[in-house]
Amino acid sequence: MKAIHLYLLSGLASLTLLSFNQSNANNKDQQTKNSVDMKFEKVALPYATDALEPVISKQTVELHYGKHHQAYIDNLNKLIVGTKFENADLETIVKESDGAIFNNAGQSLNHNLYFTSFKKNGGGVPKGKLAEAINEQFGSFDQFKEEFNAAGVSLFGSGWVWLAKDQNGKLSILKESNAGNPLTSGLTPVLGFDVWEHSYYLDYQNRRADHLKELWSIIDWDVVSARY
Ligand code: MN
Repeated sequence: MKAIHLYLLSGLASLTLLSFNQSNANNKDQQTKNSVDMKFEKVALPYATDALEPVISKQTVELHYGKHHQAYIDNLNKLIVGTKFENADLETIVKESDGAIFNNAGQSLNHNLYFTSFKKNGGGVPKGKLAEAINEQFGSFDQFKEEFNAAGVSLFGSGWVWLAKDQNGKLSILKESNAGNPLTSGLTPVLGFDVWEHSYYLDYQNRRADHLKELWSIIDWDVVSARY
């Protein structure tokens, strides 16, 4: 009788253990699935949403970062499920994808770079090796700004103007349409200004040139110079 009792008890214990293990496994599956679903996230905003005023208003930051950027990230996370990009990093996806995945990956990366290029009371001049390279290649910082602004103003439609470097540190200014990023040309992005109307229309309406001129006063040159 005792033996049967023990047998039953140990059976019960095994069952409990089995069901515990199964529920653990289910939790794990759930966690893995969730972590895939939640793969990419926006970069954290390194300042308050009103910190860039009056150059970029709180309302524009809230819409641009909170809605536009979030939508690119959400779309990307949905689109990569079941594709070869499911476990790839963002840079790899930008380099190797096309179509909708490229558009949303490019915009996710572009906005991560963009929103971390600013700070409250920023501005001033580039630092260290980036400053030297800009002076050497463009003649002066002012000359570089003029060329960069001109590229941004003359870009037709939506897109980005980029300062990029090649493997030897040579700088170039690129005009990219839509979600374009210098990575697809084998270059490293250093600084990008968003010239999609959503980045300035509430604050500057059609005056893109005025917006681009003002952006220089909120650049975080510590962050941007470190990308060079
Ligand atoms: Mn944008």
